[in-house]
Amino acid sequence: RTVYLNGDYLPEHEAKVSIFDRAFLMGDGVYEVTSVLDGKLIDFKGHATRLQRSLDELDMRAPVTMDALLEIHRELVARNEITEGLVYLQITRGAPDDRDFVFPDPDTTPATIVLFTQNKPGLANSPAAKKGIKVISIADERWGRRDIKTVQLLYPSMGKMMAKKAGVDDAWLVEDGFVTEGTSNNAYFIKGNRIVTRALSNDILHGITRAAVLRFAKEAQMEVEERNFTIEEAQGADEAFITSASTFVMPVVEIDGVALGAGTPGPRALRLREIYLDESRKAAI
Ligand code: PMP
Repeated sequence: RTVYLNGDYLPEHEAKVSIFDRAFLMGDGVYEVTSVLDGKLIDFKGHATRLQRSLDELDMRAPVTMDALLEIHRELVARNEITEGLVYLQITRGAPDDRDFVFPDPDTTPATIVLFTQNKPGLANSPAAKKGIKVISIADERWGRRDIKTVQLLYPSMGKMMAKKAGVDDAWLVEDGFVTEGTSNNAYFIKGNRIVTRALSNDILHGITRAAVLRFAKEAQMEVEERNFTIEEAQGADEAFITSASTFVMPVVEIDGVALGAGTPGPRALRLREIYLDESRKAAI
């Protein structure tokens, strides 16, 4: 695989980062994942806009312009011949001379920027989407700024392990009795013609897929309600699903052992997946 590191395109084994890098020592970095369909980027602008916001919130400086970033994405997709897959991007506060809690001066410590591709043939035509996924609920024990897409992914990673141990696919996080989101996705249920999902705040990541799917749902004459909801309410729904750049719209068929509807992907979630894929392909760059 050819990867990108601080201005260079390199074979992956030649791309090396300092042990003093702030992301390695302190989780001091932000990231984005953009999907690729038909060799083109899905919703690049949304991801670039959120990246800039994450950087701003952490007082971090972008090492390249957003236009240059697009070119790097495209170059990596071309060099690695990605037709379907993902582009991972990470920007960290760089590697100062020593470990220190205080942020280094960005004039003397430049940011570290890394991008690599992940080849995922069949991403859009995933068998999981036909079967749906099962989730359990777990306590949301992440920090309070989940709207910033940082590389501090230990708790989400632990959540996936808890799900795996319970024999299911993923976990929904619950705080003060209400679902925030999935470990790496936004969470929704559908009752009648209405989609319910948590409103945007610092409590959840502002999903790029979420924004697109809610827009398409409204265009398809579905009602959208952004509010808190409980696991019990979702268990009593007709359908449920998650969204993310890597799963698009993925039906959820079971929550904490309770099957939704017939225990198979619901027609509305499947329809939303179809619309999302069609429209995103058309708008891809
Ligand atoms: N919430 C969390 C916690 C996530 O990690 C992600 C994906 N990284 C999402 C939601 C979905 O965001 P997007 O649709 O932009 O991939």
